[in-house]
Amino acid sequence: MPEAHRKFGVERPPIGWEGKRLREMLEESERAFEETGRYCGIERLSLKESDPIRYEKIFAKLRGGLVNARETAMNISASPIVKEVGELCFAFYTPEGDSVALSTGIIVHVHTMSDAIKFMIWHDYEHNPCVSPGDIFTNNDPDIGDVHNADVQTFVPVFWKKELIGWAGGVTHVIDIGAATPGSVPVGPTSRYEDGLQLTALKIGEEDTVYRDHELRCERAVRTPMYWKLDERTRIAGCHMIRDAVETIVADEGLDTFKRFMREVIEEGRRAFIDRIKELTIPGRYAASSFFANQYKNEPGLPPHAQVDTVMHAPTVVTISSGGEFHLSMDGASPWGYHSSNCTPSAMQGALWVLLSQTVMPNDKVNGGAYLATRSFFPPGTWANPQNLAVSTGAAWGFLIPAFTGLFRLLARAFWARGYHEEVMASYGMTMNALQGGGTNHLGKPCSILNFEISTVGGGACAVKDGLDYAAAMWNPEGDMADVEIWEILEPMLYLGRRVKPNTAGPGKYRGGSGFESLRMVWKTVDLVLQNAGDGILFSSAGIFGGYPAAAGYRHNVHETDLIERAGAGKPYPVREYDPEHSELKGLVKGKHCFDKRTVTYPHPFKQGDLYLSWLRGGGGLGDSLERDPKLVEKDVNQGFLLPRYAAKIYGVKLIEDSAGSHCVDWEGTQELRKEMRKTRAQRSVPTRDYIASERRRVREARLVDPIKQCYNSCMKLSPQWAKQYREFWDLPSDFAFSLGDGL
Ligand code: MN
Repeated sequence: MPEAHRKFGVERPPIGWEGKRLREMLEESERAFEETGRYCGIERLSLKESDPIRYEKIFAKLRGGLVNARETAMNISASPIVKEVGELCFAFYTPEGDSVALSTGIIVHVHTMSDAIKFMIWHDYEHNPCVSPGDIFTNNDPDIGDVHNADVQTFVPVFWKKELIGWAGGVTHVIDIGAATPGSVPVGPTSRYEDGLQLTALKIGEEDTVYRDHELRCERAVRTPMYWKLDERTRIAGCHMIRDAVETIVADEGLDTFKRFMREVIEEGRRAFIDRIKELTIPGRYAASSFFANQYKNEPGLPPHAQVDTVMHAPTVVTISSGGEFHLSMDGASPWGYHSSNCTPSAMQGALWVLLSQTVMPNDKVNGGAYLATRSFFPPGTWANPQNLAVSTGAAWGFLIPAFTGLFRLLARAFWARGYHEEVMASYGMTMNALQGGGTNHLGKPCSILNFEISTVGGGACAVKDGLDYAAAMWNPEGDMADVEIWEILEPMLYLGRRVKPNTAGPGKYRGGSGFESLRMVWKTVDLVLQNAGDGILFSSAGIFGGYPAAAGYRHNVHETDLIERAGAGKPYPVREYDPEHSELKGLVKGKHCFDKRTVTYPHPFKQGDLYLSWLRGGGGLGDSLERDPKLVEKDVNQGFLLPRYAAKIYGVKLIEDSAGSHCVDWEGTQELRKEMRKTRAQRSVPTRDYIASERRRVREARLVDPIKQCYNSCMKLSPQWAKQYREFWDLPSDFAFSLGDGL
């Protein structure tokens, strides 16, 4: 009978614990948390208390399994972003999608993957398309759980007999995602429909085998299919290694013990976070603001409604209670816009989580418990929570990275207040400039470029030492710039040089970590577009306690150069810019110099011999620059971290240069100069109340540029409560809004 083959309406037995459906488990878990404030309502950590060594051993085995999966699986990938830079991460989740433990790497995604698993449970995937042993799922939809769609996630359910123990999850950042413009943080799309391939929590395989139709579809949707395919295999292999590790632990320890362990370790993570907040901070209300500019006015590649200059506002308020409750609000943030840098709440929560795991709880068991210990508010309609499926999130990091510098600075104040001076840090460096583009490479093959040197920028200055030079990015604490030869394999651009970029660090008693510059020459291609993506006209990496911000960026690319002829004639060629005011590029290369502060551009054509300067930013400074040890200034100048003329100008340090070009401190001269500078400061200074009064006049008279006024107007329109606060602070009429155009 044909009907015998029809399974419609057939109920499969539940796969959750104690005969429950996954959705039931998730509902119960959320209800218990709501009612008790504790994960799954757990009161006593009975396993941890009764057998602490065994408990720690289980955690160590699981954590070891995850790190092992990452370190092994990354070698399957051919993409330097994964293999060299380490832009991947693995984690293990409960059946309800709460993270239990994680590997190292791009740990921002531990939370976003949690959101994706919960999405599948809320949408009853257990019933349709079913969750069975050997199944493979994928997701890269930021509206569900992700930062941007270039971060592709894979999930494998882990079963013990017919019961789901949990989920293995892995994520890699792929080279190209088939967006309207090439690269994997496309700065060009103005709607979701240009962001490229969106895989909305899909089942992509069963019996440990990927469906052929999924593979073919993806291969045909991205510009670099070989890298895509190997990245997918990396994620699947890692998830399968985790499954093996978990099965071994369950066989050794017993299923009930492992289940109890999963519950307790998350609750322990939650309690540990609260303890750390209580230990490290003073309760109170901490506020900080960050800004970022998108310069798209007159950008011919964009539709007219997207050709605007906008300033993004990220006001951050953290309230810490005496009980260790941590609440973050971005009330007053700017509205979403027709650009690629909108974020979903999942991305914002992931970023909050990754930053807290590097500051508040670097030593504890890090998992979903820390997420449960925090609350956050990203207002609807803002760039941080658009509530509009149509917006582009292709380069969500563009706003997210500068926005969260505020969190770093306010945490620094909280740590300082409590006396934890070693934990204090100024803003991290922006992970910019992003060198991005695509076309045909030096081997005649289609290529897509996002140079992941961006995962190596300067760290913020600390209260006891300088920031780390060309260290890691805020989103991957293990960031690496990778060898130049690796990038030259992938990109049709030779490195003429890669070295320290002077003056990128924010000055202060302790300076920020320095960035570096790479000078690239386009090579063996006639079909290549490249774009700049960075900060330019606003300082987005602020200093703290009197320290200066890190340098804002600029663009210097050269088209139609005489470089190939120069090389042919054996003449010298540039290997760096070094000092933009006395540019070695300008001095040595004839051509069309694109040298300005337009640092976010649509992809523009480049050809063989053209030059592209990509320089990576430094971190913010801390403390008064006149208090910096002159010996450190001497060292910075001698090692190329500081241009000599700024030793006196910023630090009040007089240097004497010897015939070999080496500098040493003139102690007497320095003492005199600093005395003079302090005197000038005292003469220029005004009482705080006078300064505030003069700033108030400036606001009332609207003496600001239009993009700033538009920014504040739009924030006030979106949030009446923030508008009230702003107007009251500046003593403005209750219906105040800036009029445009007549300010300066
Ligand atoms: Mn990514």
